[in-house]
Amino acid sequence: MTLPLFGSPATSPDVPGGLLLQMPLLPLGSQPAHPLLTMLRFKNLGSGSTGNATVVEGSSGSQARRLLVDCGFGIRQLQWRLEAAQLRLADIHAIFITHEHSDHIGCAQAMAVRHRIPVWMSEGTHAALGAPDFDGMLRIARDMEAIDMGEFSALPFTVPHDAREPLQLRCTDGAAYLGVLTDLGHASNHVLAQLTGCDALLIEANHDLAMLEASRYPAFLKRRVGGPYGHLANSATAEILRAVRHPGLSRVVAAHLSAQNNVPALAQACLAAALDWPDDAITVASPTAGTDWIGVG
Ligand SMILES: [Zn+2]
Ligand SMILES: [Zn+2]
Repeated sequence: MTLPLFGSPATSPDVPGGLLLQMPLLPLGSQPAHPLLTMLRFKNLGSGSTGNATVVEGSSGSQARRLLVDCGFGIRQLQWRLEAAQLRLADIHAIFITHEHSDHIGCAQAMAVRHRIPVWMSEGTHAALGAPDFDGMLRIARDMEAIDMGEFSALPFTVPHDAREPLQLRCTDGAAYLGVLTDLGHASNHVLAQLTGCDALLIEANHDLAMLEASRYPAFLKRRVGGPYGHLANSATAEILRAVRHPGLSRVVAAHLSAQNNVPALAQACLAAALDWPDDAITVASPTAGTDWIGVG
C-alpha cells in the first residue's frame, strides 16, 4: 500500500528545494528503524479541559518533521503557543486529532485548509464532527496503522473513552519511544501493550478521586468523568505506570489535569510514588504554558 502522506506538495524550510517528500504508509502496525542518527522530542502547548495540543518532532541532521497532536485552541492562541516553542504554523507538517471533543479539535479545520496541512483522524471522529470538508487534506487514521512522518513514525491505537472512535499515539524514531495518551477511562490490555517499553510518556492524570467525589459536579457528571469511558484518576494513572515501568522510562508528563478536581502536587505525588521517583521528577503540563521541550530517550 503506497498512499501518500502529504496530499499536495507544500513548502517547508526543512527540505532542500522546499518540497515535502511523498512518503508511503507503512505496513499495518509496523514502526521502522531509521538508519540515520535521529532525535525525538516533544513539547506540550497546553493541556486541560480548555484545550490540548502537543508538538512531536523527529529530526536527523538539519531535517525535522513535526506532528501536532490535537489542536484544541483558536488559531491565534495556537500561533502564540507555537511562537513560545520557536515555531510557526508553517513548521507543522501534519496534524493528528485524537477524538472529536472540542478541547482537542479547536482550529484544526481552518489550520488544515488554509495552510494545506494534512490532518489525520479516525473515520469515527470525522463522522462525529459532522463530516466536515477538509478540502483534500483529510487522512483517515486507523488502529495500529503507522503514520510515517519521515524522521519518525506515529502509531495510533484505540482507547476506551466516550467518543466515537478515539485514538491515541505511540511515536518512535526507531530508537526511542514516546507514548501520548490523554482522555481515556481505563487502561485496556491494548493500551498497556502500546505503552510498554516507552521511554517517555505524556499521560492523563485527570482527577483525584476524593476531590471528584466531594466536588459540586452533578451526580451524572461524576459518573461520566469517573466511569470506564471517562477520564483517568491519578490512582488509575499510577496503576498504569506501575504496569509499564522499566529502566528506560525516564520522563513522565501528567496531562489533562482537571482544574476543579485535581492539583499538580497531588498528581505528582501519586504518579511519583508508583515509580519510586521524587515528586518533582513528574512534569505537569500546564493549561496555559504546557511544558518545555522534552527529549525522548
Ligand atoms: Zn479532553
Ligand atoms: Zn475527550
